[in-house]
Amino acid sequence: MIESDKVVEASRIICSSNWMLGFTGAGVSAESGISTFRDLDGLWNRYPEGASGGIMGILRRHPETAHELFSGMLNSIRNATPNPGHHALSELERMGYLKSIITQNGDNLHQDAGSSKVLELHGNAFRFRCLECTRKKHFSRDGLFYLVDDILSKMDHFSIEWIIPRLPSCKCGEPMRPDVVGFGEPVHNLEKASEATSRCDLMLIMGTSGVVYPAAMFPVLAKRNGAKLIEINPKESALTSKCDLFLPGKTGEILPMIVENIKEMNR
Ligand code: NAD
Ligand code: ZN
Repeated sequence: MIESDKVVEASRIICSSNWMLGFTGAGVSAESGISTFRDLDGLWNRYPEGASGGIMGILRRHPETAHELFSGMLNSIRNATPNPGHHALSELERMGYLKSIITQNGDNLHQDAGSSKVLELHGNAFRFRCLECTRKKHFSRDGLFYLVDDILSKMDHFSIEWIIPRLPSCKCGEPMRPDVVGFGEPVHNLEKASEATSRCDLMLIMGTSGVVYPAAMFPVLAKRNGAKLIEINPKESALTSKCDLFLPGKTGEILPMIVENIKEMNR
């Protein structure tokens, strides 16, 4: 049970901030039914190779798991909708407190909840990008699952040669791949996220273990620039010791409490 004095303290710090930046990880979507990678029900426990090599690391060692792996990951986002934590963050943006969110998530739930200033570091599962030109294509939820269900129904193993001809085609004729960042690939929005980090005087860190780099450098940089750090997570993370305030608990429970508290303070 979260102590209410910590909620009051967090609300007070948020109200006195000039430029608050959010930093989110897989944990903010856990209450939407999407499993995190490292928690007990996380993917890395079922497939330990993933911790060092990502999805491609698992597929290289166990190509026969492709169907189970892809359908497991996709089924968890199939019916996912924003939870009260996502909604509270979009409300904090509308109230003028939250200027932007840097997210490691690719599930589109911040945007579905109405957040408009989202900087995705690791791409978006609903977007594909051409392997040849710069074109990108955003899929609706139904459109994405129509495509992947068709591919998965035929998938008995995984190889690059098998998957390429089954990917959607770009207008230029070349195949399009999911616009998600794999292990070892460059992250997106690095410059914009660095700029936002240097502007912020408060960073709200939520639902991340803080061990995936370069993403985890943003809280470190914010701290170095003099910003305050507040963290919300049921468990301490690699970033907790750097934080000015740690609220132990779920974002879906604590963030709505903070929003209510701020409204109360402004009444
Ligand atoms: P992680 O799995 O390493 O850590 C998740 C963190 O969330 C943990 O610290 C855990 O204690 C915390 N957590 C669990 N439930 C929570 C809740 N209800 N409220 C708040 N916190 C909660 O995730 P990460 O740090 O984001 O790094 C893993 C990588 O996995 C990222 O690169 C991300 O791109 C990717 N990923 C994304 C999704 C998604 O898009 N939803 C899902 C799984 C993994
Ligand atoms: Zn193209």
